[in-house]
This record gives sequence, C-alpha cells and structure tokens, in this order.
Amino acid sequence: MQEALIEKGKQYLANTYNRYPIAVTKGEGCWIWDMDGHRYLDLLAGIAVCNLGHVHKDVLEALISQAGKLFHASNLFYMEPQIRAAELLVEHSFGQRVFFCNSGAEANEAAIKLARRYSWKKYGQGRYEIIVMENSFHGRTLCTLSATGQRKFQEGFEPLVEGFKYVPFNDAAAVEGAISEKTCAVMLELIQAEGGVYVADKRYIKALRDLTGKKDILLILDEVQTGVGRTGKLFAYEHYEIDPDLMSLAKALGNGFPVGALVGKEEVMDVFEPGTHASTFGGNPLAAATVTATLNTLLGEGVIRHCEEMGKHLVNRLLSLKEKYPFIVDVRGKGLIWGIELSIDGDAVQREFLKEGVILNCTKGKILRLVPPLVIGSEEIDIFLEIADRIFEKAQKR
Ligand SMILES: *Cc1c(COP(=O)(O)O)cnc(C)c1O
Repeated sequence: MQEALIEKGKQYLANTYNRYPIAVTKGEGCWIWDMDGHRYLDLLAGIAVCNLGHVHKDVLEALISQAGKLFHASNLFYMEPQIRAAELLVEHSFGQRVFFCNSGAEANEAAIKLARRYSWKKYGQGRYEIIVMENSFHGRTLCTLSATGQRKFQEGFEPLVEGFKYVPFNDAAAVEGAISEKTCAVMLELIQAEGGVYVADKRYIKALRDLTGKKDILLILDEVQTGVGRTGKLFAYEHYEIDPDLMSLAKALGNGFPVGALVGKEEVMDVFEPGTHASTFGGNPLAAATVTATLNTLLGEGVIRHCEEMGKHLVNRLLSLKEKYPFIVDVRGKGLIWGIELSIDGDAVQREFLKEGVILNCTKGKILRLVPPLVIGSEEIDIFLEIADRIFEKAQKR
C-alpha cells in the first residue's frame, strides 16, 4: 500500500532528503506506525524533537484549546500564550528576554544578527567576526550555513556570508588565538550532534567563558538540539557551571510543533529595538501554547530526571556491547543523546535496524545517533539493546 504513496512522494517532493522507505501515519510515545500498520520503536524522535514522545496529551490539549481561540494575530499585538512561554523560559534559564521564531536556523540567525548589532552599537564598525567550530552544525540558511564548520554543506552555495572564523572544537587555545579586535562573538554547540555527538569538555567551556567575558565578546550557545531536557538538564549549559550570553532553541521546544527561540541576557537582547528584527509567525499563539505545555510537562513530571536515569541504563549496556564487538570504536553522549561510532558501514547497520523495526539515524556514514523520546522506558531500551546485540553479532560474522 505505501509503495504507491512513496512513488508519488518521489514525483512531487523536492529531492532534498534520503528518506527511509516507509510512510509514517501515526505516533504514540516512543512508537510510530507506517501506512501498512507496521510498528517501529522510534529512537530518533523526529530528530530530537518529540522529547515527550509522539502526540503527548498535554501538548495536544494545549494546542486544541488554543486553536479554538486564536491561531495567529502577529507580533503587532501582546498575546498571553507567548508571554507565558517567555516567562517560563526566563524563569528556568539564565536569560531575561526571549525572541520567538520558527526554527533552529532562524534562532541562530537572530543570534548572529544580534551579536553584530550589539558590537556595532557599543564599539562601532569593524567588530563583526564570529568564531565558530569545525564540525559544527547551525542550520541551512545561507548565513547559518556559513557559520557551520563543514564544507560538505557549503559546496556550491558560495559566496558564503562573510565574518566567520573556524577553529577546532574542544580547543580553547585555538579560540584564544583566533580572537582579534574584530571578534564580536564565539558560537558553538555543547554537544556537536549532527557532527557525530562530540561532547564539549567542562574546562574548555569554562575557558571560553573566561576568554569572552574579559573582552565583552558574546558567548552564543546553539542549544537547538541539546536544550529542552535532552542531556538530563533542562539546558545543557547547566552541566558546565557557566551562563552564556545568548542561547538558541528549537527542535524539542514545541514537542513537534515548529517553534524556535533566542533567549538572552537583558543588556544584549535590548539591542533589538523595534524594527531591527522580526518574524511574522514567531511565537504565534499555537506555537507558544505548545512551548508552555512542553516545558510544564518536562519540569513538572520528573521527565528530566527520568532522562538521566535512562541515559545511565543505556550507556552501561552500550559499553558492554562495545567490549563485545571490536568494531564499536566509541560510545559517547549525555542524558539521552548518544553516538555509537563504528569502524564498519553505519548506513548498512542503520538499514538493518529499520528492518528489525527500530528507527535510528546514522551520521557521517559511521556514527549511529540515538535521540529517543525522553519518556522512553527501560523495557523499550532493552528491546533496542537486544536487537542491537543481534545485528552486531551478524555484522561480526561477516
Ligand atoms: C537542527 C539544528 C539546527 C537547525 O535547526 P532547523 O530547525 O532545522 O533550522 C541548528 N543547530 C543545531 C545544533 C541543530 O541540531
């Protein structure tokens, strides 16, 4: 049944994705179903989006209730759902102001524009450079693509946006060496997720905070993937005992409803004055209602602690698999974002998992990425581990 739809999809949709050969129709918790009624254990959660699981009841209820009142009115008005969502983000983070938008790239664009403007206003022209990391990922708009430290995404789209300097990740000396009188910000992910799940060291982040703080250079954290409970804290920066100046959020912020946000300190955010930046849909009442429901559920129901516990359970067992199978080169991550680096063809292994009804993602052709819903139970993790053991054993014999 789904073959016909898949063919149609190939005919009508832009060919920008290597899609899995299934058409999904329904989701519930950690499970999704295809058109033919097959069930899959979803360890990808819509690419780290559905942190509370698919179609979470509180988010659904908030969405339906808001939809009956007002979809959209524009940011020319004050709207209660948006203000409540902003208040929650401020109450639970270092930030004091929130700019809402619709995606991760857009949140990062806002951060980049704001950093330049902040510096321009305070120091005049010429202080516009942003230091970014090799192997990073910040989005697909021309500007965030330029900030992304991976050539493969940039090829053929030149000329790129000027003003980004790339340095190796986890190397504070490299950042120090790259800072000049032109630098206005340092921007990075605390876990390079798309890049293959590389975790920033605590000393590195503390050093960056020191370096940037001394020179009034903004520290921008791209928490589009690591934020909203993913790492076992509401925001990943909480692991590092520092506060950034700006933080971008998106992915899980609306548990599947498209919404992004830039959260920041007052003195930086207030450089955005009327007319300097905008987004028509940004934080509209529907989106904002999902943000509030998502954050309240995450904070109120112990989901974040559960995430940390499940992460420990998962990594312990993954490390035993690593002992057993020499082609598992590394296991790394935090909370419920894990990378399993293989020395064999990861895409082939990913396809094996799909055949066995498990959805996960392979990045860089060799790193399996697990970003399951944070509400995943230990029974579900054990289902995955059992299948993994079986697939790895088969791979071992080859
Ligand atoms: C996914 C992602 C983005 C881009 O978000 P979009 O919503 O796809 O624009 C940016 N940064 C990081 C760290 C991401 O994981």
